[in-house]
Amino acid sequence: MNNVYVYCELEGTTVADVSLELLTKGRKLANQLGCQLEAVAAGTGLNGVEKQIIPYGVDKVHLFDAPGLFPYTSLPHSSILINLFKEEKPQICLMGATVIGRDLGPRVSSALTSGLTADCTSLEIGSHEDKKAGKTFENLLYQIRPAFGGNIVATIINPEHRPQMATVREGVMKKEILDENYKGEVVNHNVAQYVPQTDYVINVIDRHVEKAQHNLKGAPIVVAGGYGVGSKENFNLLFDLAKELHAEVGASRAAVDAGFCDHDRQIGQTGLTVRPKLYIACGISGQIQHIAGMQDAGIIISINNDENAPINTIADYVINGSVEEVLPKMIKYYKQNTK
Ligand SMILES: Cc1cc2nc3c(=O)[nH]c(=O)nc-3n(C[C@H](O)[C@H](O)[C@H](O)COP(=O)(O)OP(=O)(O)OC[C@H]3O[C@@H](n4cnc5c(N)ncnc54)[C@H](O)[C@@H]3O)c2cc1C
Repeated sequence: MNNVYVYCELEGTTVADVSLELLTKGRKLANQLGCQLEAVAAGTGLNGVEKQIIPYGVDKVHLFDAPGLFPYTSLPHSSILINLFKEEKPQICLMGATVIGRDLGPRVSSALTSGLTADCTSLEIGSHEDKKAGKTFENLLYQIRPAFGGNIVATIINPEHRPQMATVREGVMKKEILDENYKGEVVNHNVAQYVPQTDYVINVIDRHVEKAQHNLKGAPIVVAGGYGVGSKENFNLLFDLAKELHAEVGASRAAVDAGFCDHDRQIGQTGLTVRPKLYIACGISGQIQHIAGMQDAGIIISINNDENAPINTIADYVINGSVEEVLPKMIKYYKQNTK
């Protein structure tokens, strides 16, 4: 009762990174609240799947294992969470802001009339004083996310309804195992008690999963280009440098919108969040929506022809010059020095 729950997304029997990131965050929230962290996993052939989950500090794993629960379909997974939450009454439920989380979260929150904040960039515990009603609410989940086009950061609370639900994009939270030998309980639920047969109305007979074209999220070095790169052709300079450095290429939204680079490489609030050791920002001004996706990089190098570009204030090194001039030199000297 009153615990923190994380819905674990599965690809086959592998727990998604975003869920492991949320378990890490969930553990911290549960510590602050003095409650337990519980996880829900629903799929097919889940024997042993808890071994991926418990080391993140999970006290209880609710397993729902039945044919028809993988691949994900909306109705059975919604019924599982809705009926389980009616019994368990969690205070918080977190899930990935993924295709699945975006489908599942609103269904569950609507059925439980709980409210949901999508795409949170930070989650904290705090209190709220409702001066009008003369009430103070303790230990609320602060669901923090950019609002009004990123111009403000809003803190959203849900004082009176439970669970407090939030989705978070992959990469926003850090994934960290708490203890490989953490002791957690596993509860194997009788799926038929939670999911009516009529929920299996969709039968997935074939699935085509596109392989990712890049590994931006896990790359130790990212060379990112902005509108200042100027053209799709100039972006090739970034790919050349990335090849030398064994890096991945990212882009700002302005560069993507201009057609310089593919959309799946966009970094920022409405793109990917990356945490590389080195981030080389080429012709990027550093608007808040971009910074949101790369500010945790270890070292930031900014290449910009405007010495007052906002990104320079968070950069560790600033190269004042044009991308066309600086990048060929970087490639040339890097090649020379590594010969
Ligand atoms: C709701 C919302 C969500 C958004 N989400 C994102 C997001 O996820 N990611 C994102 O990136 N943006 C996002 N944006 C857009 C964001 O506000 C900025 O418009 C965008 O980040 C600007 O991209 P930029 O820095 O490449 O372009 P600009 O702001 O145009 O900056 C170009 C920079 O290049 C420099 N420059 C110009 N020519 C050269 C040259 N030859 N050599 C070197 N430097 C040069 C300029 O001095 C300038 O600093 C979002 C906006 C909104 C409203």
